Amino acid sequence: MRITVLSGGIGGARFIEGLKAALGPDDEITVIANTADDIWLFGLRICPDLDTVMYTLGNGIDPERRWGRTDESWQVKEELAAYGAEPTWFGLGDRDLATHIIRTQMLHEGKTLSQATARLTQRWDTGVTLLPMSDDFVETHIAIDGDSGREVIHFQEYWIRLRASVPVREVIAQGAETAAPAPGVVEAILGADVVILPPSNPIVSVGTILSVRGIRDAVLATKAPVVGVSPIIGAGAVRGMADQLLQGLGIEISAASVGLHYGSRRDGGVLDAWLVDTADAGAVATLEAAGVAAEAVPLYMNDAVTTRQLAVDTLSLARRIGAPAH
Ligand code: GDP
Ligand code: CA
Repeated sequence: MRITVLSGGIGGARFIEGLKAALGPDDEITVIANTADDIWLFGLRICPDLDTVMYTLGNGIDPERRWGRTDESWQVKEELAAYGAEPTWFGLGDRDLATHIIRTQMLHEGKTLSQATARLTQRWDTGVTLLPMSDDFVETHIAIDGDSGREVIHFQEYWIRLRASVPVREVIAQGAETAAPAPGVVEAILGADVVILPPSNPIVSVGTILSVRGIRDAVLATKAPVVGVSPIIGAGAVRGMADQLLQGLGIEISAASVGLHYGSRRDGGVLDAWLVDTADAGAVATLEAAGVAAEAVPLYMNDAVTTRQLAVDTLSLARRIGAPAH
């Protein structure tokens, strides 16, 4: 089986770990990672979601933080702070910096982000093909109410420095309209047997991937079933701060409304099917009425067993609906 996953960082990476455990050696996973979280800092190109997926699947991730490297130290960060260098709020570990240095060097040599990613993943035995969504510059910016009116800041500043604590007025995926899918991305979606939207942030992870026109068109066109997993259980995001973002955009924080926000492919949306948690079983009828096949199963990825089971349930829902006639 060929499975293609549109992933953000932590939620996506965890799900893909389960998917790897659920699949056999002949199955192929392609991960298309969000790159709109990317940011230039101290002359280096940082790609948080690509790196979270790479480190998680390659067993190099810090197991508690779930981002950055194992056995990390922070001497460079301390030295930068001693110089009074800004920003101080972004976590750049010493080991992690090596990744950013190699990536940036390759970009300066004229290589693409795809090429840099392929080079970096050579070291990590990820067991998947990891592709950036685009080699073009796309950056998520967030409009908030500043002291003197509307202010637009980088997503990372909103997320990390402000801890997503102020209302969101607009999410701007800068560059997305003109960005082209990276090599292999459209082929991976069109040639897949199953396309999965894992429990990643629907606005700033999967949403930004889908804001690249060529990717959205491929998801609309693929003959594979497109199955999503809700990142919302009950009335909140499981981990992380997705609820503040959804609220700011006027989307109710529930598994059903996020599923409806993605929409049924029958009506120009991106989903054929949507998994909700057993706590949200009441949403199944609403979703099915809107043309999204739905099932309620446990969605907490607490450990290797529950995470693998979630992947098994996702694949069996895909099998149940089969290739939809669009
Ligand atoms: P980020 O880029 O690091 O923010 O990670 P993602 O976008 O891939 O995933 C973030 C989302 O994962 C959050 O909105 C959480 O609600 C969701 N999430 C985290 N852990 C779980 C879990 O155990 N189950 C489910 N269903 N969602 C989860
Ligand atoms: Ca992210």
